[in-house]
This record gives sequence, structure tokens and C-alpha cells, in this order.
Amino acid sequence: MSSSSNQYPFQPPQHPETQCIHAGKVKDAQYGALATPLYQTSTFVFDSAEQGAARFAGEQPGYIYTRLGNPTTRELELKVAALEGMADAAATATGMGAVAASTMAFLQQGDHLIASKAIYGCSFALFNHQFARYGIEVSFVDMTDHQAVAAALQPNTKMLFAETPINPNLVVLDLEFLGNFCKKHQILSVIDNTFLTPLLQQPARFGIDIVIHSATKYLNGHGDVVAGIIVSDADKIQTIKLTTLKDMGATISPHDAWLIIRGLKTLSVRMERHCSNAQKVAEYLAEHPAIAKVFYPGLPDHPGHKFIGKQMAAAGGVLAFELNGSLDDGRYFINQCELLSLAVSLGDAESLIQHPASMTHSPYTAEERKMAGISDGLIRISVGLEHVVDIINDLSQALVKMQGQQKRPSETLTCNL
Ligand SMILES: *Cc1c(COP(=O)(O)O)cnc(C)c1O
Repeated sequence: MSSSSNQYPFQPPQHPETQCIHAGKVKDAQYGALATPLYQTSTFVFDSAEQGAARFAGEQPGYIYTRLGNPTTRELELKVAALEGMADAAATATGMGAVAASTMAFLQQGDHLIASKAIYGCSFALFNHQFARYGIEVSFVDMTDHQAVAAALQPNTKMLFAETPINPNLVVLDLEFLGNFCKKHQILSVIDNTFLTPLLQQPARFGIDIVIHSATKYLNGHGDVVAGIIVSDADKIQTIKLTTLKDMGATISPHDAWLIIRGLKTLSVRMERHCSNAQKVAEYLAEHPAIAKVFYPGLPDHPGHKFIGKQMAAAGGVLAFELNGSLDDGRYFINQCELLSLAVSLGDAESLIQHPASMTHSPYTAEERKMAGISDGLIRISVGLEHVVDIINDLSQALVKMQGQQKRPSETLTCNL
């Protein structure tokens, strides 16, 4: 998809590796700074009362107040829009800010949303626990079942929301089906593309209307920011900026935007390493006798494997697995990891390990998790940028300790995972 509608100071570069570094950049006319200047300011001074009035009226370009727009933030927005092959973007304070601002800008009382039954825990909480308070109906559907998606359609259905691969069990959804379905029935489609980034998957190629990211994850990549971004056509971004962003206020800080611009410069080399490390870790775990099952689309027996090369360039850097053992064993295993940090989040240089049922997906009740296919024994790893041998060695020593522990039948660890 062409991104020629973006107002670059120069012809937009075509290759994503180049776009990560150059797209959206405004030449620093005053000093020629190579790095993007950080406009850490809340407000912008007008030359005159007339100029201020003209900016508020939208009759003259220029910045007014950072909740409404900021030059540093703007570079980030144009960069991610170019990477997604879409016209425009709105950066937000968190990924959840992006989920809320993109959905609530278009849904109102009496509308119906079709959501994937397995999604990020707080997206689920927003839709299931908050939307009901505002009279927005939600159906949670297994979106691998295309008939179930069709059956969920109601006369008041306004929007469909999903993520792929699904957090945390890496189920892959068919974007071509979802895009066509939404176009056919004239409902807005929203895809959370956090797990793959636009370098590995561009939902707009399949007719998806709105793409959102937790920029906290791979886009920033360094674990020092929480942020989000919404990408779409110019009209929808304008609507979001003038309603749910302006009036609800989950605007990104310019400093955080600046850090993400810096992080994006290395996104393409980082994603290559995340993917190759994750593939090797997945293959190692799949062979290990202490592991019952590995969930990673890069493994040939994964049901999502067939989408690689079609809708996603590679399988990404996150995998999940079930141990041959009890919940107690799982907790013991996680506690033995030394290099891998026990932490939620993903997409950082550091490898992170966590237990979805008690951590990221605790906003689900036990019943809701069961419906969404998130088992209590599932462990998720965000494979980092360390040498893969060091990652595997750490997992190996933790598994050996766990197996030793399993041989002592008299000890039962109590566990509240
Ligand atoms: C982390 C995450 C979010 C929420 O993003 P925050 O930046 O934590 O608010 C949404 N979707 C997915 C898939 C995520 O991983």
C-alpha cells in the first residue's frame, strides 16, 4: 500500500528498514541536528491573538498545546503510519490508551462489538467490564471459527476487534477473512498488531481499518517507556484526535515519543534477532521431555504456521509452553531462572518469563480464562536479544532443577498461581 499521502519533507523511503530511521523526519532548519529535537513543552507561544485564533479555528497550521499535538510526537506518528502503510497515526500514553481511544471514538450506547475471545487481559477487561456500563454490547468469539464470527453479527454491530497472534497462546487469526468480513458487512475492523510490529505484519494489506500497538513493547524495545499508537486513514485519526484523545486525554509525553523514535531506528535488526532466537528456543523446548507442548507459530505443527509468508513475515519473538508437571512445578521452574527475568511485558532486549493466568491474564476470571483457552499451566517467554545459547542454558538448568524437585514426592509446595 502506498504511503504517498503522508506529508514528508522528502519522498518517503520505500524499504521498512529505511523508513524506521528516516520516515516522518523533519529537517532541523535551525541547527541541522541529526537526532530528532525533543520539544519538551506543554504549550506553544502565538505571535499574535489573530494567529492563536486562527490555529484554534484550524485555519492555520501550527501547534497549540501538547495534548493536541507536538512536533516530536508528530515524527513518531508519521513514522509508524509509513511503516503500517497507512495515512496517519495518533500516539497515546499507553497501549490501553490506544485500545480505549480507538474503540470509544466510534462506539456508542446501543452499539455492538465483536471481540476475539482471547485478547490482551486489560482489553478484555475494558470490553467486558467497562463497556457494559456504557450500554455497549460485546460478543466474545473464537475467531478461528469463521462461522462463529458470522453468527455473532447483529444489526447493531459496529466494530470487530482482535489481535493476532493472540496473547498469550499464539493462536493466529486469518486477517484476509476478517478484513473481507468487515468490509462486506460495513463494520469497522481493529487489529492489535503489538506482537508482530509492522515489519512482520501489516493488517492494512488485508483491508483492516484501524491498527493499534502497545508501543511499550517492540516499537520502543528498551523497556523504559509505556506508550501506544493508533494507525488509520486521515479521517479516522482526525476523529480520534478531536474526541477520545483530546477530551479523554491519554496523550503521549513528547519525551516518551522521542525515546520510541530512538528505539525504532533499530527495530528491523532487533526483530530479526528476536525471531531467530525465539525459533531456536521453541525448537529446544519442543524436544525437551519436561515440556508437554510449545505454542509458537514458527514450529511446523502449529496451526498458525501456514500463515507465515502469507500474512506474517515471521513468527515473532514470543512463545508459550506447558510443562509436564503441576502448577507447583511451574512456579518452582520460573523461580529457578537466573538470566530470564520474571516480568510481564514483552519486546525488550532482556528475555522475560511470566505466568499469564496469575499475571497478564488475571483480569479474566478462572471461568473466562477457560473459555479463552488460557490454561493455568501456561508459561510465556518474550525471547530477548541475548545470545541464544545463554537463554537456552538458563532454561535448561531451571528444567533440570525442576525435574530433580519432581522426584521428591513427599514435598508438596503450596501454590496460589
Ligand atoms: C501490553 C499490551 C497491551 C497494552 O499496552 P500498555 O502499553 O501496557 O497499555 C495491549 N495489547 C497487547 C497485545 C499488549 O501486549
